[in-house]
Amino acid sequence: MKLKIVKGTRDIRNEELVRFQIIEKSAEKIFPLYGYNEIRNPIMERTELFAHGVGEETDIVGKEMFLLEDRRKRSLALRPEGTAQIVRNIITNDLMKQNKTLKYYYMGPMFRYEQPQKGRYRQFHQIGAEYFGVETPDADLELILMLRHLFNDVNLKGVAFQLNSIGCLKPNCRPQFKSNLVQFLKDNQHNLCEDCQKRMTTNPLRVLDCKNEKCIQIADGAPKIYEKICDECAANFKDLQNLLERHNVKYELNEKLVRGLDYYSRTVFEVYSSNLGAQSAAGGGGRYDGLFDIYGAKTVPAIGFALGLDRLTMLLDKPKPKSEGFFVIGANQEAVIKLVSEVRENGQKCLYDPHFASMKSQFRQANKAMAKKVLILGEEEIKNNQIAVKNMGTSEQITISTDQLNHQFDN
Ligand code: AMP
Repeated sequence: MKLKIVKGTRDIRNEELVRFQIIEKSAEKIFPLYGYNEIRNPIMERTELFAHGVGEETDIVGKEMFLLEDRRKRSLALRPEGTAQIVRNIITNDLMKQNKTLKYYYMGPMFRYEQPQKGRYRQFHQIGAEYFGVETPDADLELILMLRHLFNDVNLKGVAFQLNSIGCLKPNCRPQFKSNLVQFLKDNQHNLCEDCQKRMTTNPLRVLDCKNEKCIQIADGAPKIYEKICDECAANFKDLQNLLERHNVKYELNEKLVRGLDYYSRTVFEVYSSNLGAQSAAGGGGRYDGLFDIYGAKTVPAIGFALGLDRLTMLLDKPKPKSEGFFVIGANQEAVIKLVSEVRENGQKCLYDPHFASMKSQFRQANKAMAKKVLILGEEEIKNNQIAVKNMGTSEQITISTDQLNHQFDN
């Protein structure tokens, strides 16, 4: 039988896994500094949780979900994103009742039925954070500062923030812009791709971020949303930009950055890197002040972001393998295993050759395992209650008595 991996999923191990862990550990360290607690949500949800864009064409809902049916024929979805789940969690458990604000972060696999290519998978990994209960741009600023902190911490270079405001649902704001945009698109209809000819009426904002060459050209000439939003949204956007400048955050305005769904409002941002090739977005975020309403709950202003780990890890420098821990070699199996346990119980990494090959071969394995020190238990040493310790960095070798072993441990 040929064992094959499922299309669009990947086995992540060794050096690549180290890259994942570098970012995950950094997020676990940094996000709590800003008051974010981890939240863990199920991998599956009822499909309707994600199918909230009723009446609108949404990519996630339309073609991108992995759906399954339980035995009672209820439709379940493998989660395509994290935000809707956290909102569900808050509503299900009535968490806003006792709290004016809430901050959560999450990490884990997401699933979308997309055509796989480099940087685009059917099972991919996100780290995200969501801030609930604050309407002012302070919350937007804080999220962006937290992201910058994370990127600096993992020494991630070449990422840039792009920013836009998509206004609100007041008639003189996004709705008015939309109808102007539709008019503009109609005038250029014959040059739009097939998808965009449909989107033009179902979800015109999405035409602005279509990747088709001809659509890009048309979008370049389209009206700019941040110039057309209502006075309140414009003031809010200006405030955010001032705040970012005061905190020396570098960003670019990108009038084509949009979210297609109505519950998004005002700030949208993305993290880009030109080093990512075609899949240049490493993460995205934005306000969704209208999402709680969609689920029939009391309005809660909210903003969040999601980072694509599969892409961010491609931007990290190659992790340097480092030598660490101990490797015990010797011919007396019992003595070797006893010493190995002792070292491990002292909180030190310690390995040995389970096949007890020749001393020479055991040494080679110690080298390959990148042990910092090799503990040698020869016949002489065992007889005299001693251990020979070879420092693999300096090649220096000393002999110690067994009760001095703890002097060899790192703090
Ligand atoms: P989104 O939830 O669509 O805003 O995506 C947020 C980030 O997740 C993107 O910027 C990507 O880095 C990442 N992402 C989204 N879809 C995929 C995918 N199919 N494969 C890998 N990464 C993805």
